[in-house]
Amino acid sequence: MNTEKKSVWFITGSQHLYGPKTLQQVDEDSAIIVKELNANANLPIELVFKPVVKSPDEILDICIEANSDKNCIGIITWMHTFSPAKMWIAGLKALQKPYMHLHTQFNRDLPWAEIDMDYMNLHQSAHGGREFGFINARMRKNRKVVVGHWNDIVVQKQVADWCRTTVGWNESQVLKVARFGDNMRNVAVTEGDKVEAQIKFGWEIHAYGVGDLVNYVEKVTDAEVLALYNEYENVYDVADNCKPGKEYHNNVLVQARYEIALKRFMEEGGFGAFTTNFENLTGLAQLPGLASQRLMAAGYGFGAEGDWKQAALLRIMKKMSEGLEGGNSFMEDYTYHLDPANEGVLGSHMLEICPSIAAQKPRLEVHPLGIGGKEAPARLVFESATGDAMNVTLIDMGNRFRIIVNTLDVIEPLANLPKLPVASAFWKTHPNLADGAAAWIYAGGTHHSAFSLALTPEYIETFAEMADVEFVLIGKETSVSELKKELRWNDVYYLLNGSLKA
Ligand code: MN
Repeated sequence: MNTEKKSVWFITGSQHLYGPKTLQQVDEDSAIIVKELNANANLPIELVFKPVVKSPDEILDICIEANSDKNCIGIITWMHTFSPAKMWIAGLKALQKPYMHLHTQFNRDLPWAEIDMDYMNLHQSAHGGREFGFINARMRKNRKVVVGHWNDIVVQKQVADWCRTTVGWNESQVLKVARFGDNMRNVAVTEGDKVEAQIKFGWEIHAYGVGDLVNYVEKVTDAEVLALYNEYENVYDVADNCKPGKEYHNNVLVQARYEIALKRFMEEGGFGAFTTNFENLTGLAQLPGLASQRLMAAGYGFGAEGDWKQAALLRIMKKMSEGLEGGNSFMEDYTYHLDPANEGVLGSHMLEICPSIAAQKPRLEVHPLGIGGKEAPARLVFESATGDAMNVTLIDMGNRFRIIVNTLDVIEPLANLPKLPVASAFWKTHPNLADGAAAWIYAGGTHHSAFSLALTPEYIETFAEMADVEFVLIGKETSVSELKKELRWNDVYYLLNGSLKA
């Protein structure tokens, strides 16, 4: 994956009224905050200090500079003092990078015994931040507001999380998705407006014939396949009937060949995500199962049955969570356990679940697929790690995109699943299965999703605001009745949204 170091700029607002001595102090204080955040906040990017801005021209200039700097993927603003917000209008109108308003104060505590008017005039964030807040609200700007002392670990985590979201947003702007074949025939929810997706999210979505991939498959050498098979032996428990000389060994080699070909295709084309479709496999003997799982584990987004929206989402979520605990996978609500005393959802797919979520060493197995009429494909079989998780989906509502998040508790399966030939996760849906599934269905959510054990809903909410698309959260507090109203109100809001923006 591309690990090039990106940056977020730290911009402090003020004005000339304070005089050079105070402004120098503001600059020094800002530089200290930047230095400390870089050292302690576990940021995924470099925070870059920028000299305090004091006039409309300086603000406009730095916003234009941020727009044109490819390494700058966002801005953090701070009002140490009072920065009259009419000065920010031109800059905010021009600014195209996502931004955060860090509402902090240099000193945490009031110096009770010493505080005088000079101190008060230097430490004005409490009201300076409100002036800045007004103009952002007045202009209907989507931005993140974080409040608290900059040295507090909760605040630092919020700053780091937001920076991770900007990494995802930046990935979104450069993301290319390769579709091998088209959508599964007659399926509605995997469809959508790819032109609008490029306008809103930045994604280039390109379709290829399966033959384009077959050309790459045919060029993979036996030596490359053998080397990759040896890697499989090292990292997975390979089933006996898949080992050299056994009945399914060749089926595994076929997937190794697909993996090498897919990776080469993706690298040469600069793609970050891809889709397959078991109905479009002309020229391939198997549905790419193991191969898709391995590419997901390497950081690529994936969507089955042509689902380019979830493929792109998954890639972005993988970029946001690089270096965090917990994996991300393509997922599908597959089969229910409807025991009223202990209900749950078995999540899985035909084959393609990412081993980044595996709780144990995956088993490499071959089984017939049951549908599609192709050769028995190799796949990795495992159960998901447990913990707080969420399903995320993106759907096309016709006049807008809607992103839906449902939080989950992934738990151990209630019993062994000895005959299940695919990877799986078992979870409790929030607020409960009936209301969570009803809310998801009222909202029009897909059967597919991008599943994460690494991220929280806040990342996705912020991402949706960066894209200016609808965000619907189904969580522990969700009431179906209230959610239905929210969906109706959102319909009206998205008719008016454009007319409210500055
Ligand atoms: Mn599916």
